[in-house]
Amino acid sequence: MTEIKGNGYSVYVGKLKKAPLQKTLSSAAFKNAQKLVLVDENTLEYCFPKLIKDCPELKKAELIEIESGEESKNIDVTTRIWEAMSELEIRRDAVLINLGGGVIGDMGGFVAATYKRGIKFIQVPTTLLAMVDASAGGKVGIDLNRLKNQIGVFQEPHAVFVDPEFLRTLPKSQVLSGFAEVIKHALIADVGYWQDIKQIELHGLYDNEDLMTRSIEIKNKIVLKDPRESGVRKLLNFGHTIGHAVESFSMESASKSLLHGEAVAIGMICETYLSHKLCGLSKKERTEIVGFIQSRYPVFEFAEETGHRLVELMRNDKKNKGTEVNFTLLEAIGKGVYDQQADPSDILEALDFYRGLYK
Ligand code: NAD
Ligand code: ZN
Repeated sequence: MTEIKGNGYSVYVGKLKKAPLQKTLSSAAFKNAQKLVLVDENTLEYCFPKLIKDCPELKKAELIEIESGEESKNIDVTTRIWEAMSELEIRRDAVLINLGGGVIGDMGGFVAATYKRGIKFIQVPTTLLAMVDASAGGKVGIDLNRLKNQIGVFQEPHAVFVDPEFLRTLPKSQVLSGFAEVIKHALIADVGYWQDIKQIELHGLYDNEDLMTRSIEIKNKIVLKDPRESGVRKLLNFGHTIGHAVESFSMESASKSLLHGEAVAIGMICETYLSHKLCGLSKKERTEIVGFIQSRYPVFEFAEETGHRLVELMRNDKKNKGTEVNFTLLEAIGKGVYDQQADPSDILEALDFYRGLYK
């Protein structure tokens, strides 16, 4: 069992059965507390049985189920969860266990942070993305009219329990989506990690405690330096300025919307282009990064005119002022730089570069 110490909480990586979840919940602090588990239909079917097997303390917990998917990460579903908690007469000393991917973790964390001015919550991530990225770091929130993560707060969980065994039932496309955040961690902070992940095949991602630990450590180190994102934490936004716009756009238009990590992969290709143009990333490294991501992720086709809509979405994003858009870019593999400005013409050029790759 690896323990990574975060900002007032710990992330435990290893078998849930051996992790201190059961011990925490039966400790004096929680013994008499009401326990609630938030699930979606998939985590109820595939993950809840293992949760109660590994942690029998939760057999009697109240269950709240929501419909899976990013489309649920909104204020209506949030209200339904608050109402369900109110009907169950959940008190302030209760604890909410979020069993699921980033949607459950972000929304459940937000619900917990706001219900009766805040109850404790524990993250039990069940997707690769939530394991390596979303469940630690204290950002919780929901989308607003398709704009990603517009409403939210910083609230650290009580603890995070990462058990890679949950990934056994996760569809391949979801594993690949989570891998995008792993690629991001390597590119912004650790060239050695980049060399290692380049060797990994998809099936090697399922039971890879070492990889999870390395990714969580990279994120944790950055978050500890800057928990509220006034500086260095912005490094974690690499790929996300364009990625979030593409994700929102795909939700408002495509018949099947992109997964978060699929959108981030597209964002990373475009932002790698910008890194070469604006921040001195060498052409050789640009080719290496773009080739690797392109070989792993499916193409997303969009028309040239879509570029303007994407720029508009980026300018609506919370991180930008004025006409220029704020980016985190790369000076080299393993060396991210934040607060880099690009103007709309550069962004349109980067989007054209992406489209050109698949012509
Ligand atoms: P998700 O929560 O939608 O889960 C993906 C799908 O997998 C869902 O259909 C879910 O029901 C299913 N699923 C979950 N676990 C399963 C399992 N073990 N077996 C079978 N099916 C399973 O998506 P995600 O990719 O985990 O998270 C994406 C969200 O995370 C986005 O909303 C993104 O904004 C957020 N995020 C947050 C942070 C943060 O710091 N808070 C960081 C990165 C991403
Ligand atoms: Zn992300």
